[in-house]
Amino acid sequence: MDEAVPALATGQASTDVVTDKPINVYIWDMDETLILLKSLLDGSYAGSFDGLKDRDKSTEIGKRWENLILELCDEHFFYEEIENYNEPCLDALSEYDDGKDLTSYEFEADCFSSPYDDVNKKKLAYRHRAIGEKYGKGLEKILDQHMVKVWDDLYSLTDKYTDGWLSSAHKLLGEAIGKSAAAPSANSSSINCIVTSGSLIPSLAKCLLYRLDDVVSSENVYSSWEAGKLQCFKWIKERFDGPNIRFCAIGDGPEECSAAQVMKWPFIKVEFHPEGPHRFPGLDMATIQNYMDVIYESSSKDG
Ligand SMILES: [Mg+2]
Repeated sequence: MDEAVPALATGQASTDVVTDKPINVYIWDMDETLILLKSLLDGSYAGSFDGLKDRDKSTEIGKRWENLILELCDEHFFYEEIENYNEPCLDALSEYDDGKDLTSYEFEADCFSSPYDDVNKKKLAYRHRAIGEKYGKGLEKILDQHMVKVWDDLYSLTDKYTDGWLSSAHKLLGEAIGKSAAAPSANSSSINCIVTSGSLIPSLAKCLLYRLDDVVSSENVYSSWEAGKLQCFKWIKERFDGPNIRFCAIGDGPEECSAAQVMKWPFIKVEFHPEGPHRFPGLDMATIQNYMDVIYESSSKDG
């Protein structure tokens, strides 16, 4: 008994290490920030390069992505059934989920309909949980070999066409949460969130297809479709706020810009134009840290 006490105390101490290093919560926009899709489809990305990039090729790449995203949603994420019942995040209905083992649950036979009562809310919550589990396993476990190849080829083609936009955005998100040796100063307790105006299920499909699933967990993906970005930012603040926590929003749109202003968070504007000050490849952790230091150091002086 006497020996157990110091052992317990030691274990406690190692998990309770007090650090001055702030924990950063990064709130990323998805479309035209971490990924390019609309600007490939409508040719505006190619157009900004003054004829240096093939416009038809960009549209074709965009269409192939749209098809792949829809196919994943329909075949694996119950999208035809649940597309009209968008929720802001996968955990939104967790209070209705009784935790039942879903291994042999027959989704096709549970007569899911509009989730306006608790029974159907539970069925929707089950679907959300199943989607979260698939997300956690990764696409290699979901897609067949042929589709993995189609996906790999499209990712590589797009990354090459955009001079590495996708892979450099992915690398930066890894650095942000200390998953990369390139950023030893990053705090591995830091967190990536995505707040996107797209609906939730296709956005999760995009995270998987654009290989962001190892740097953003499914419960940290928010759809601002109904609630708006400011409300999502408030939820994120409520969820993660604490001593030594700092937030930073990164996106291309005016909505996240003004929401960040309301929250008094630093905001970094991403632009795909080749002369844009913040784009991929290019945006790095040093720049993000500078933005955060400016806001948080001046606010600590004010306060
Ligand atoms: Mg955007």
